[in-house]
Amino acid sequence: MTSRVAIVTGAARGIGAATAKRLAEDGFAVAVVDLDEGQCAGTVSAIEGAGGKALAVGADVSDAEQVRAAVDRVATELGAPTVLVNNAGVLRDNLLFKMSDDDWDTVLNVHLRGSFLMSREVQKHMVEAKFGRIVNLSSTSALGNRGQANYSTAKAGLQGLTKTLAIELGKFGITANAIAPGFIATDMTKATAERVGVSFDEFSKAAVGGIPVGRPGAPEDIANTVSFFVDERSGFVSGQVIYVAGGPKA
Ligand code: NAP
Repeated sequence: MTSRVAIVTGAARGIGAATAKRLAEDGFAVAVVDLDEGQCAGTVSAIEGAGGKALAVGADVSDAEQVRAAVDRVATELGAPTVLVNNAGVLRDNLLFKMSDDDWDTVLNVHLRGSFLMSREVQKHMVEAKFGRIVNLSSTSALGNRGQANYSTAKAGLQGLTKTLAIELGKFGITANAIAPGFIATDMTKATAERVGVSFDEFSKAAVGGIPVGRPGAPEDIANTVSFFVDERSGFVSGQVIYVAGGPKA
């Protein structure tokens, strides 16, 4: 590998923050990308406090210009990125008849367009290095979930994007894989509990009832899986979707 520079989007909190910290422990310099650069400070100082290297970068992943500027900045300040984790995400849940155009566009733009723009921008560094690892965050919602026509479409779309990137980029030493988490305790699931009007404790207990390993997922469960996919030794694993949900999913 010519450089050990990773970009993690949506890394100010939740799964992205845990992933950025884990990749720093694995020896990567990590670009912590999120909407607001100031919000990245917590993740960056945790990494630096543990002796790692990190850079806070503010960018909206659904905006092509901001994506270009962010990736250029990472390449200049940390080095050519050869690992990309497309993790930034939002929810705008609603039943179909109440889902607005904006609910649909926002979710599709952040998850799908964002992952497309970031991958397109970073692949040139990967192709040059003849090495790369792309990991996209899908979800068990890709299998269908009430109130999430927008989100489940985006998360299923990411699985298609992953497989196509694996096919197109494989000859350059680049792998692309997707992780589809089940219930993970983060601000995102806390917001869902709030929206449906139950405490997070109750919401969590109900979710755990359907999880064979009998506990909610933690952001670190996903970070561990990212760590496996981006390892140099995982070069023959590509185009896969792994459900990290405490049990099997179809
Ligand atoms: P989270 O706690 O809500 O964190 C998401 C992060 O993404 C936030 O820091 C958010 O910034 C950032 N973000 C949103 N829009 C962005 C944009 N346009 N550009 C850059 N950053 C943006 O979510 P999470 O639970 O950690 O989820 C991370 C990923 O895993 C998401 O893709 C999610 O869909 C997926 N996932 C989560 C679960 C789960 O149970 N938690 C399950 C399956 C899949 P702001 O705070 O400024 O909005």
